[in-house]
Amino acid sequence: MSALLRSALLAAARSAQLERAVTRLPVSRDVVSRFVAGTSTDQVVSTAETLLRSGRFISIDYLGEDTTDLTQAQATVEQYRVLIAALGRLPQAETTSGAVRPLEVSVKLSALGQALPRDGHAIAREHAHQICTAAEAAGLWVTVDAEDHTTTDSTLAIVRELREDFPWLGTVLQAYLRRTEEDCRALAGPQSRIRLCKGAYDEPESVAFRDRAEVDASYLRCLGVLAAGQGYPMIASHDPAIIAAAGAAVAAARRKCEEYEYQMLYGIRDDEQQRLTAEGNHVRVYIPYGDQWYGYFMRRLAERPANLAFFLRALAGG
Ligand code: FAD
Repeated sequence: MSALLRSALLAAARSAQLERAVTRLPVSRDVVSRFVAGTSTDQVVSTAETLLRSGRFISIDYLGEDTTDLTQAQATVEQYRVLIAALGRLPQAETTSGAVRPLEVSVKLSALGQALPRDGHAIAREHAHQICTAAEAAGLWVTVDAEDHTTTDSTLAIVRELREDFPWLGTVLQAYLRRTEEDCRALAGPQSRIRLCKGAYDEPESVAFRDRAEVDASYLRCLGVLAAGQGYPMIASHDPAIIAAAGAAVAAARRKCEEYEYQMLYGIRDDEQQRLTAEGNHVRVYIPYGDQWYGYFMRRLAERPANLAFFLRALAGG
């Protein structure tokens, strides 16, 4: 996909006007369901149960981002409480501390109020603390997603503070950011859980590599640091070259299969998820659900021409 088209789609992902237009399109819901597991807790828990039965782990994201309304941020926390309670009733909920937990929720701090004009940082931290408390009681993990680079310092600071109470709290680093190799070195200590991804936002050259080859090279350097570190690397990519290199990196670091995991998005490369699982690897599927699917969906369209073509074909009725 051309860099220009990708930037245009990522800009569209943040346009409220386009969101209103796209979400009203008659085909949208059907197309979106390829990447989003429904709008209700029941639907996503049922999808999670199917994936768990196939031997995969799960991380569920209640869709929403860039909240500038405190009531909406509080409603998001409430939604997570309901989700966590439902997941905690599954037999896979893991109450042994220290073990790899098959069930996880992913949260975006911007959905918890990070962007609120006054005290956004403190509000998001308090909301994330409430979610972690509920997750701990239910035997789940939490990972904090990475958003655009203007939030990275605040997000990593919140994760650092919360890890004092919840040492298992995971965070995401984006290989396209120039700072990330250094962040990997700083964060690869004991008990850390780092999800390494390429990065999904439209970032300026000043802070991010924009060339695909440079992003891939950065990913491999970061992976090397995490594999050699003392934490639990979570290799989030659908890229065959990255997955092959990851296998070599964890083997070189003499990691056992319970000392790292692969992660992929719901609806993407299901066959590869199953292949990795059959080989004895831990594979976690990131499952988004909820009404606020627009931003997430547009970032998936921006990633791959085939995804965009799929959407356009559906629009044309083909
Ligand atoms: P790409 O560079 O998109 O693709 C490389 C190659 O992979 C393609 O050329 C193709 O060969 C293969 N491939 C990709 N998709 C398919 C497909 N559908 N079918 C067949 N082959 C395919 N980003 C963030 O910014 N913040 C986050 O918190 C975040 N969390 C994530 C969590 C998970 C579990 C995952 C998997 C991704 C997450 N991302 C996040 C998104 C990530 O940053 C990338 O935008 C996204 O994963 C695409 O990059 P990629 O490494 O998969 O490979």
